[in-house]
Amino acid sequence: MTRVNLLDFDSAALAAWVESIGEKPFRARQLLRSIHRRGAQDFDSMSDLAKSLRAKLSEHAHVTTPAVLNDSVSDDGTRKWLLDVGQSNAIETVFIPEDDRATLCISTQAGCAVNCSFCSTGRQGFARNLTTAEIVGQLWMAEHALRAGADEVDRVISNVVLMGMGEPLQNYDAVLPALRLMLDDNAYGLSRRRVTLSTSGMVPLIDRLAADCPVALAVSLHASNDALRDDLVPLNRKYPLRQLLAACRRYVKVAPRDFVTFEYVMLDGVNDSDTQAAELAALVHDVPCKLNLIPFNPFPQSGLQRSSPQRIRAFAHHLMDAGLIVTTRKTRGDDIDAACGQLAGDIRDRTRLNERAARKTIPITASVH
Ligand code: SAH
Ligand code: SF4
Repeated sequence: MTRVNLLDFDSAALAAWVESIGEKPFRARQLLRSIHRRGAQDFDSMSDLAKSLRAKLSEHAHVTTPAVLNDSVSDDGTRKWLLDVGQSNAIETVFIPEDDRATLCISTQAGCAVNCSFCSTGRQGFARNLTTAEIVGQLWMAEHALRAGADEVDRVISNVVLMGMGEPLQNYDAVLPALRLMLDDNAYGLSRRRVTLSTSGMVPLIDRLAADCPVALAVSLHASNDALRDDLVPLNRKYPLRQLLAACRRYVKVAPRDFVTFEYVMLDGVNDSDTQAAELAALVHDVPCKLNLIPFNPFPQSGLQRSSPQRIRAFAHHLMDAGLIVTTRKTRGDDIDAACGQLAGDIRDRTRLNERAARKTIPITASVH
């Protein structure tokens, strides 16, 4: 019998597994609390469990997160972990502390198949889906690293956003149990409003999410018409704007927040004109929404530039004049390449990084610049 990783199980799956090894289902609750709330990894430390059960657990199960290849802290407090998910694939997890919240940005795939032209993850291509253990393991690892060893403290992370590498709705089966764990009072106990899934627009799965586990939804719009969006977000050719916006309207009816957040990356001379602002305002006028303008984070060979601050301000004002709620994202973690779309660097860097990691010269501890 192969040992299972208990981070792969949400509460229902854990109860079923616990029963399958001949134990009472209520043990699942104890286990869940030990693993996710206390951050226990070693069954011997779970003193509320009988010794015989601890021995059985060690025989059949383990609690394993992806190994940390690098851990760096930015001048602004943003902290980024580079995690090894095997076969030369690395993913990133970013912690963003703010005055009123502390957000963890997690990855759902190694690479991404959607291939948006402004995204360095997309440019790397798709490697593989992460498992539930690798997705929720990022939260487990970060929460307990940030607690700095303290066992029973209040949670450090108040919000989770699925905005790292990958398209979460293209890895639905692994993402769903991870979301359920984030919301579970015996695990991370986050409210639905504080867990945000960001999607480039997998229309049928937006509806499934609404039925299975409605969390806050962000939709990467980036364009005011289909012709431009076909170019920037190739998935648009499959699910064009009319279908996407209809799915957003349906989602809002069950969403924990009464709006959808539209993300709009500001690309100089591509999608940032006054005419496009007017077109965008007309496009979303009947969807309860907020717009989040994201200054483009350049990366080598993208061939794209960030819109100027003046242009972003003018674009935002046009939208506000049309009655929309608009925010502009602050760029964080620039000095450690933790800003949106800079995750994991380019493939060559990644390969070099893995070569170095294999020779164990990678710094494993935090390096504060
Ligand atoms: N795949 C999902 C979630 C991950 S991307 C999605 O596309 O929504 C998270 C956000 O970062 C998206 O809004 C994406 O468009 C944005 N993004 C990607 N590359 C970027 C870049 N180079 N600069 C700024 N934002 C970027
Ligand atoms: Fe994938 Fe999102 Fe990047 Fe597009 S923006 S390539 S969907 S990770």
